[in-house]
Amino acid sequence: MTSALAPDALGPTICVGEILVEIVATTVGTGFVEAQPLIGPFASGAPAIFISQCGRFGGQAAMIGAVGDDDFGRVNVERLKRDGVDVSAISIDPEFPTGSAFVRYRDNGSRDFVFNIARSAAARFGWSVPVSDLVGRGGHLHVMGSALSMPSAIAVIDKAVDIIKARGGTLSVDPNIRKELKLDAETEHRFDRLVSAADLLLPSGEELERAAGVDGETAAVRRLFERGVKEVVLKRGADGASYFNRDGTRVDVPAFVVEEVDPTGAGDCFGGTYVAGRRLGLTPQHALTYAAAAGARNVTRLGPMEGAGTRGELDAFIASTGRYS
Ligand code: ATP
Ligand code: MG
Repeated sequence: MTSALAPDALGPTICVGEILVEIVATTVGTGFVEAQPLIGPFASGAPAIFISQCGRFGGQAAMIGAVGDDDFGRVNVERLKRDGVDVSAISIDPEFPTGSAFVRYRDNGSRDFVFNIARSAAARFGWSVPVSDLVGRGGHLHVMGSALSMPSAIAVIDKAVDIIKARGGTLSVDPNIRKELKLDAETEHRFDRLVSAADLLLPSGEELERAAGVDGETAAVRRLFERGVKEVVLKRGADGASYFNRDGTRVDVPAFVVEEVDPTGAGDCFGGTYVAGRRLGLTPQHALTYAAAAGARNVTRLGPMEGAGTRGELDAFIASTGRYS
């Protein structure tokens, strides 16, 4: 079976969006209204986690976004470089600080946040010479639905989709938009267009139905294929993941049995591995297994991308970790 995604050799997988540091409360509880122990900064931002894991797995990978001229920015840029990510299209904002998110887990697993994103360097980038150079040699674009809340990301994504598709490249979308979330009419329209243009969709749970606009897993997948999507990979947390191809093929993989320390970033690590794996020529079954391993390994470490793994590290993880049957 041929992959719905352009081969790695066509050019890097590109991800556009927010680059942040995350600072995590080390105790469980409610919010930040009292002084408390924290740990960080950890490199973060869903698009950055995705592209980090894509690079670590051995796929060509590049990031478009911005950081401030500060240590939080350097934490991110140095980290992505070490992971093999092309950082030529990450701009350094001379004026605004790097984006940040403080996060604390509550007893019930829900989270409290203090964000500084919309008014930070993270949201201040656009079409530039380095961005244009990168996109002109790109092989695949990955879009996070959440990036549609950033006008700067929308502008770059709109242009990049056309350029990359015109040179034979492909598009994956992680809809990443909760079922209850209402978008304004223009953003909704843009989201629908991106979903329909996607070669691969990577929803998690109910995001599948939200993206398809239809209830029920089977009906939602069928609707997406009618709209032009070629592959759907559904993430099911500790219940594993499923692959659907429009030719009727389906592959299910169980999750690995791990102790969850920090669930943040599992879906992004999963996606980065799956896209890199498929572009490097792995079968859906093989790529899904690596992706499930990357998601599982990531939740065993504190920090949004600290458990991201190279192909060798994932091989070792797979060999030594049990799976739900
Ligand atoms: P995020 O929570 O980062 O937004 P997501 O909701 O997009 O992620 P998940 O389904 O939570 O995606 O995780 C992606 C994949 O990672 C799962 O399909 C699974 O293979 C693996 N995974 C996630 N959490 C666990 C877990 N607790 N135990 C084992 N595997 C897990
Ligand atoms: Mg999840």
